[in-house]
Amino acid sequence: MNPDEILTQIANEVTVCKNCSLHETRKRAVPGEGPSNAEIMFIGEGPGFNENEQGRPFVGAAGKLLSDLLAKAGLERKDVFICNVVKCRPPENRDPLPDEIFACGKYLDRQIEAINPRVIVTLGRISMSKFFPEAKISSIHGKAKEIDGKLIVAMYHPAAALHQPNLRPALESDFAGLKTLLRPTPIIQKQEIIVNKPTFTSFLESNTGNVAETKPDYEVPSDTQLNLF
Ligand code: URA
Ligand code: SF4
Repeated sequence: MNPDEILTQIANEVTVCKNCSLHETRKRAVPGEGPSNAEIMFIGEGPGFNENEQGRPFVGAAGKLLSDLLAKAGLERKDVFICNVVKCRPPENRDPLPDEIFACGKYLDRQIEAINPRVIVTLGRISMSKFFPEAKISSIHGKAKEIDGKLIVAMYHPAAALHQPNLRPALESDFAGLKTLLRPTPIIQKQEIIVNKPTFTSFLESNTGNVAETKPDYEVPSDTQLNLF
């Protein structure tokens, strides 16, 4: 199965899943949405009232703020994948329980594997603890950590910034830094653009064998500030 088919398969399973008690109170499960080749994946906590009604993630007030933050950061919502730690709404929007997070984790893990994003952004404490169980969000937010070839960045939950406007500047500046974390352009890709000229192509082919076999060398733009910890 290709990544698109895997995501569809996961969504189909989630829609009818009864692996934890959250299925008893849900109206619609919310598998998540976005392209299977997204470079950035956002993981929230769980569906709220509006998401439970519509079966789509981040469509309420927090979702509006998420879209605004993306736009301000020069990113489009349609280009990123957005999902949650649990796919069904916890009653009264309570925090999801550890056994619910565990039961739903297999869907999230499969989504991460299928998409294989360059950057994973966790929104809020619950989502952060999947990757950084001991961390305090106030000290690590906005800082990327490389885990298994992906950059994981914890950020405040947009809903938290709606309730505590003093968190908003931090959230905005963390989002603004996202673009710099995206995969640097491999030099080989630049060569491939240049080698559209036939003479240069044959030069490369005769000198390196196969252009595609040239070792990819990564060039980080000089203005890139990787905030690694
Ligand atoms: N809050 C979340 O964590 N997820 C949503 O999908 C909506 C609000
Ligand atoms: Fe299944 Fe996840 Fe919904 Fe629980 S929250 S019923 S594990 S899809």
